[in-house]
Amino acid sequence: MNVGVLGAGQLGQMLALAGFPLGYRFTFLDPTPDSPASRLAPQIVANYDDEQGLRQLCEADVVTYEFENVPDGAAAVIAARTRLHPNPTALRTSQDRLLEKTQFQALGIATAPFANVTEPDELRAALETISAPSILKTRRFGYDGKGQRRISRVEEATQAFDALGRVPCILEQQVAFTRELSLICVRSITGELAFYPLVQNIHESGILRLTLAPAPGLTAELQQLAQGYAQRLLDHLDYAGVLTLELFQINGHLLANEFAPRVHNSGHFTIEGAVTSQFENHLRAITGLPLGDTSVRDCVAMLNLVGSMPEASDILRFKDVHLHDYGKQPREGRKLGHVTILAKDDAERRVKLEAIQSLLVKCGAMPMLNQRSSER
Ligand code: AMP
Repeated sequence: MNVGVLGAGQLGQMLALAGFPLGYRFTFLDPTPDSPASRLAPQIVANYDDEQGLRQLCEADVVTYEFENVPDGAAAVIAARTRLHPNPTALRTSQDRLLEKTQFQALGIATAPFANVTEPDELRAALETISAPSILKTRRFGYDGKGQRRISRVEEATQAFDALGRVPCILEQQVAFTRELSLICVRSITGELAFYPLVQNIHESGILRLTLAPAPGLTAELQQLAQGYAQRLLDHLDYAGVLTLELFQINGHLLANEFAPRVHNSGHFTIEGAVTSQFENHLRAITGLPLGDTSVRDCVAMLNLVGSMPEASDILRFKDVHLHDYGKQPREGRKLGHVTILAKDDAERRVKLEAIQSLLVKCGAMPMLNQRSSER
């Protein structure tokens, strides 16, 4: 089986590492030479809309991607020549916050109240239904907290719209969530479904810093609620591959914030922390193999390494702790690797987390998490 992957970053690298034991071969397409995944398999160096490069990638039996901002045209070129999973409808829906949230609502999946804002007049109308505090988000190309402005008073709204370049936006009610969760789920081309346990995500400055798996205190009711949301979306989209649903928990309720049609940073813990990783399950799903067991082995934590890397020996002297180095040049705000911590219970996880976090804070690989974001 030959798998083509758009994007050759760390997610592509982890996909290939999961696919080699299955005998799969990989080809990547990425405009940046020497991207992380090129250490493992050939990389076509071309822009994502380069027709010749895309045709070459389409020699693969199936094509997938590691980021959701795949241009429409590229998806069309690929889908006309080979199998593209997840499909172009899933891609298009996830690329536009208005389409995405409208789709959630149509499927009975709860969201924060929102309104479309394309022009200043619509902004005024939206402010009448969505009261401050609210968040103005660009409909497209927002990631890691970029492309959004918080509005604490109505008077700030016009300035926020200007600052975002008056591009099409949605105005969304700011919700006082208890915590942020994500559900990594997978649907095969055969229709088979599997779900990992909900995980808790802690962000700082818009970047994911810490994932706790399973989410502490996770109840069967909450898991069922999230799975019900995800199943409606997966079936409706006739989806194949891993999908990540990002959620806000407000006591016993869940609001869907967005979905990513791909393997996800909050699922990196599955490499050592689950029986089958999200990467292997993604490959199984898009090639029609039976899905693997999604049980989580232990009490797991995943810490992202951002901006700088620690000494490997400082991390690896801890028992049942794994280090991933993506081989990228250090740069401020750049995800360079991650650490996975396995523990037998919450108490052991807490002790290891505290020790490793303070090491990482010292070497600049993560900030001190503030009081609210550290709640767990
Ligand atoms: P997003 O780009 O939509 O994933 O938003 C980035 C981060 O902003 C989220 O992880 C939340 O921490 C925060 N955020 C987004 N939307 C809301 C909202 N409606 N209410 C409160 N916080 C939000």
